Amino acid sequence: MNDPLRWVRQDIRDIVPYQAKVYPEGVKVDANENPFPWPASYVEKLQQDIAAYSYSRYPDGEAKDLRQALSAYTGREPAEILVSNGSDEAIQLILLTFGGPGLATVISNPTFVMYAMATRYMGGQVIDVPLTEEKGTFRLDVDGLIAAANREESRVIIICNPNNPTGNCFAEEDIVAVLRGTDKIVIVDEAYYEFYGKSMAGRIGEFPNLIVMRTFSKAFALAGLRVGYTMASQALIREIHKVRQPFNVNAFSQRAAATAIEEKAAFLAQVETILAERETLLSQLKRFDWDVFPTDANYIFLRLRGETAESRLALAASIHKGLMDRGVLIRKLGGGPGLDGTLRITVGQPEENRRLLAALEAMS
Ligand code: PMP
Repeated sequence: MNDPLRWVRQDIRDIVPYQAKVYPEGVKVDANENPFPWPASYVEKLQQDIAAYSYSRYPDGEAKDLRQALSAYTGREPAEILVSNGSDEAIQLILLTFGGPGLATVISNPTFVMYAMATRYMGGQVIDVPLTEEKGTFRLDVDGLIAAANREESRVIIICNPNNPTGNCFAEEDIVAVLRGTDKIVIVDEAYYEFYGKSMAGRIGEFPNLIVMRTFSKAFALAGLRVGYTMASQALIREIHKVRQPFNVNAFSQRAAATAIEEKAAFLAQVETILAERETLLSQLKRFDWDVFPTDANYIFLRLRGETAESRLALAASIHKGLMDRGVLIRKLGGGPGLDGTLRITVGQPEENRRLLAALEAMS
């Protein structure tokens, strides 16, 4: 019998694939992107910049211009920065470098799903030290994280700050306590940095085991171009470089990201608008029958009020579907500890937020 599927690794066959989403014509507030069109000044500058570039040759594999621009933006040296095809690729590269079969990644659920997915498809295992939740506030279980990190098989600890999907940030002293409590690799994922404003990047010199990841997909509105970057000591960055494809970020995206940094004032002005809009949306969402959690990012986490996990899940599913029917796509979270009956809504443009609220009114 010729069945090539039997050669697929069993752990890969067991994976339930990521479901592609349906995009309605209407309001898309499910993926935490910057909802605004690119600023006019950026479009103008990018048109000039891309025209001056050749695309018939391979891109600069070392992304020198972009790393130089990022150095000015972050205060780290170019040799302390690696760029990647989105920060999703950075997660893979870091796990390829430090993790793998028989080794563990320590995470705190609920958090960004890619950490567990990438760990598993690379043959590693996940150790979950769940967030603690008290009076609507999520915190890291610092002692639990240190104990898990110091297990023989653990290599990488990932802290998402602000955390996706719950939206909160963590106390810097808690992150520092984890860094002091283990010499394993501690990643701080700052995908939403521009909405929060505080970073661990300035402490890379102090902690040789610290890696900070960021992305151009959120505040800088380049989700479709796939650019992320990773900052760590020069010694760690040098090792991670060894496992990336030589031309992992295409020439257009490198240019678009470097130009976005040059035009950062225009994007940061959009961030200010999003933050102001977030406050309005937060107060309006409190009118409905669900718990609205505080947020340090450009999205809002909600939990339905039901007696059981099943009833909360059913309520969340019906709201998600009701909004979808009215042309508004929000994120229904998959369930599991802390996530049963929860939803996540990205702050949209003012008009989009109005349409979301009108749809909710119509359903209630
Ligand atoms: N980290 C977090 C916390 C995210 O929310 C996301 C995007 N959903 C990513 C990383 C991946 O971003 P990118 O588009 O750079 O791959």
